[in-house]
Amino acid sequence: MNFKLTIMYIDTHAHLDFPEFRDDLGGVLGRARNAEVKKIINVGIDLDTSKKSLYLARHYPEIYAAVGIHPHSALDLDLEVRPLLTGYAENKKVVAVGEIGLDYYYLKRSSKYSRYPSREEQIFCFEQMLDLAIELRLPVIVHARESEADIIGILKSYSGSVRGVVHCFSGDYDFAKKILDLGLLISVTGNITYKKSDQTREAIKKIPLGSLMIETDCPYLSPEIYRGKRNEPANVVEVAKEISEIKKVSLNEVAKNTTKKSLSFFNID
Ligand SMILES: [Zn+2]
Repeated sequence: MNFKLTIMYIDTHAHLDFPEFRDDLGGVLGRARNAEVKKIINVGIDLDTSKKSLYLARHYPEIYAAVGIHPHSALDLDLEVRPLLTGYAENKKVVAVGEIGLDYYYLKRSSKYSRYPSREEQIFCFEQMLDLAIELRLPVIVHARESEADIIGILKSYSGSVRGVVHCFSGDYDFAKKILDLGLLISVTGNITYKKSDQTREAIKKIPLGSLMIETDCPYLSPEIYRGKRNEPANVVEVAKEISEIKKVSLNEVAKNTTKKSLSFFNID
């Protein structure tokens, strides 16, 4: 039988366990469904949010979970963390280790953190999480902020043993090329609709559609037309629209390719 697949999107990076969604998660999921956003990967940033992601994945068929320790929380890493995350990952709906990575932004600025993890502490945590992903045979979701050289260096040393995506990509083509050369994927958010994102839009022109995934990173990074408001998974369609304009391909083509890639990357049927 020959039938046309209906258009469908996957939001590959959301934080629906954050307090911003406490009062209207049902409404948020309903709007996602109406916008054909059929699956959502909810991503942990520490032990608590990893557990909450698993809770959401257990309760909502369209939600899947990623568990891991974000560089902001690198100091949380103690002997109990890995066994606990391994326990969470026994559930089939845990589809990735994330988000993990390196974030040097606050190392250089005054911050809300009384004690922000040093470069060395972040690298230690990142490598622990990469080792965990290998052990669990799961792909990784990588957060990289002002840390491109170290990110590439470390991912290079894991090349061939771990599948990964660099999420919330906001770099130039030079960085994109290094990611692609390592066989990794690139995921983009609503920030590609911002005025200041020329470099990233230029990069997207050259990144093969087959290496791209889309995400909201909600509640953050609302697309330009909703700027200032809380972001939510339904808005991932705006990210797809922007890619279709940048790459001059149909929206259908963007949806089809990014969805297919996301399903195979996270091993979801
Ligand atoms: Zn995130």
